[in-house]
Amino acid sequence: MTKSLQTSLIHTDYEAPSGFDAFPTAIHHASTVLFKNVAALRSGEWKEKNAYTYGLHGTPTTFTLEARLAGIEGGLYCLLAPSGLAAIAMIDFALLKSGDDVLLPDNVYNPNRELGRWLADFGVTARYYDPLAGAGIAELMQPNTKLVWTEAPGSVSMEVPDLRAICAAAHAKGALVALDNTWSAGLALRAFDMGVDISMQALTKYQSGGSDVLMGAVITRDRAIQDRIAMAHMRLGLGVGADDAYLVLRGLPTMKLRFEAHDRGARKVAAWLKSRPEISKVLHPALEDCPGHENWKRDFTGAGGLFSVLFDPRYTEEQTDRFVDELKLFGIGYSWGGANSLAVPYRIQAMRRNWQHGGVLVRFNIGLEEPDDLIADIAQALAKL
Ligand SMILES: *Cc1c(COP(=O)(O)O)cnc(C)c1O
Repeated sequence: MTKSLQTSLIHTDYEAPSGFDAFPTAIHHASTVLFKNVAALRSGEWKEKNAYTYGLHGTPTTFTLEARLAGIEGGLYCLLAPSGLAAIAMIDFALLKSGDDVLLPDNVYNPNRELGRWLADFGVTARYYDPLAGAGIAELMQPNTKLVWTEAPGSVSMEVPDLRAICAAAHAKGALVALDNTWSAGLALRAFDMGVDISMQALTKYQSGGSDVLMGAVITRDRAIQDRIAMAHMRLGLGVGADDAYLVLRGLPTMKLRFEAHDRGARKVAAWLKSRPEISKVLHPALEDCPGHENWKRDFTGAGGLFSVLFDPRYTEEQTDRFVDELKLFGIGYSWGGANSLAVPYRIQAMRRNWQHGGVLVRFNIGLEEPDDLIADIAQALAKL
């Protein structure tokens, strides 16, 4: 067919030679996915991830990322969401309906708590439990409790829950257990071995490692649960961008080495902080004074870069704010899992129902800098208290 210049700008007869191969996963940008013929279009089922139907429902780039993430956790299925928080919301919308009840740990990631407040508008009650309740959670289970959220550890105050006991109690009453497994990246905690039904990850953190992308994942082993979450994923239109998926894929080969380096650095800085008179408590799960340390010891194989400290109550918030401001190598900002160290003060008393400790809480993300340099930086900032 002869084509006008305008049409030839759109339609071309050229086909690149086949046989190109390289290590990186190709980045497929697409809204429209093309079918060979109408029969192929009619036979495509978006839920079966063995064919392509529409960009939102998967491309080779996103399917590859999903498969690799499921593999890391020993799961069978994975769905990607545009942020960790979107992954949390997708789980709630998939598994809860009017009349249901959900339990959340009192130290839960704060936007998850905020989502719990919103659920009331949909006729779902959200109640909060002591993260160290363990088997005691059985007393809180109601016949309409359909979902128990867990976070191991809570990413500000760092209590490590007894996941095995919580899962056993929840399952005995017919509820599912979802775990926000971001802290361990799925590397240092085998969520499904604990009995967890759904593992959620903020890929924004260690999987990306670059502080440059937002993404979340929901990983399961059970086809029926996966199908329910996949319906929510489709109905809410939670696709991710191809370039973002590529950034996360690019981070995966180095993730374990980075995680271990964060872990070594954080333990060194945490141990040093423990020796300081300005600090009353170091909330690092690998240290004995962290609530739930015994659960960490039993269930985890590592700790990564995130932990918190409590300043001695004799220091005012003005003083500890000054400490944070004086840090040179630590950025002031949320998130973690990137190469740069971060520090954030939290008004923990206002976030929790029964917070027992005095003193300001400051959370550290230990990046990939030389730990001795970070210690020297913290020392000079403490001197300005
Ligand atoms: C960051 C984070 C999230 C949310 O991830 P975003 O991609 O920032 O939305 C959820 N849970 C925990 C524990 C996190 O640290």
